[in-house]
Amino acid sequence: MSRTRWWLIGVIALATVASGVLVGLLVVKRIESGQWQMISSADLVEVKARLTGPVPPRPSRVIYLAREPLTFTPGEDDAARGQSSVVAAKAGKPVKVPGWKGTAKGWGQVVTCVEKLFAPFDVVVTDQRPAGDDFVLVAVGGRPGDVGETNKRVGGLAPFSGGVIPRAVVFVFSTQLGNQVTPVCETIGMEVAHAYGLDHGYLCKDVMTYLKPCGAKSFVDQDVPCGETKKRPCMGGAPTQNSYRRLLEILGPARPVPAAGPAR
Ligand SMILES: [Zn+2]
Repeated sequence: MSRTRWWLIGVIALATVASGVLVGLLVVKRIESGQWQMISSADLVEVKARLTGPVPPRPSRVIYLAREPLTFTPGEDDAARGQSSVVAAKAGKPVKVPGWKGTAKGWGQVVTCVEKLFAPFDVVVTDQRPAGDDFVLVAVGGRPGDVGETNKRVGGLAPFSGGVIPRAVVFVFSTQLGNQVTPVCETIGMEVAHAYGLDHGYLCKDVMTYLKPCGAKSFVDQDVPCGETKKRPCMGGAPTQNSYRRLLEILGPARPVPAAGPAR
């Protein structure tokens, strides 16, 4: 081979290595910028600057449990338009989720169970698509791979900023969870609460825990350390979280059902 040719091959090889390094640097840069960085918890997709501003966003007070197949595009969370930051982080392209494949009876039980979890708070849980655009959408169905998540053991995914993410889209992989009512219900509770800003709590009977369950879960009125497999400070630096009190602060208490009779 001629000298020129060897020289050319050398240049190409160098260019290949250099571009590889450049791509590597860009990836590191993106991770450092933190925009879509995963924190240690498998079901949280951290979203930062884009969704938090000087004025704390108001929470969406309708939780829409969607059982039908749906398509989502990557972008800032906008439930009514099917736009999702989780999809932006995980897939980077439009995705389809297949919807609930369990029984109709099972679905009814899931809805009732989620209503019960959120009963103390001023929110409405429904499986009928709400009018308007101010709601949290829970896309129930499928498996993690449907939205580009490579961790096959994840039961759900939610965007997480430590604060309220309005009009959030969260995912609960009911096929992955065997279409079982309680795991699906409790995962819905956890993912929705992440979108309201709640971290993982280190208490086995709390909805927000990764610990092995110890009986029926709820949002427990107890100050507990945050953490998944071990205790850590909570997102934002607080030593503990009280999931029940935190949701009360964010959403307010459930309003009493108006009684029939003369207006007061
Ligand atoms: Zn979680």
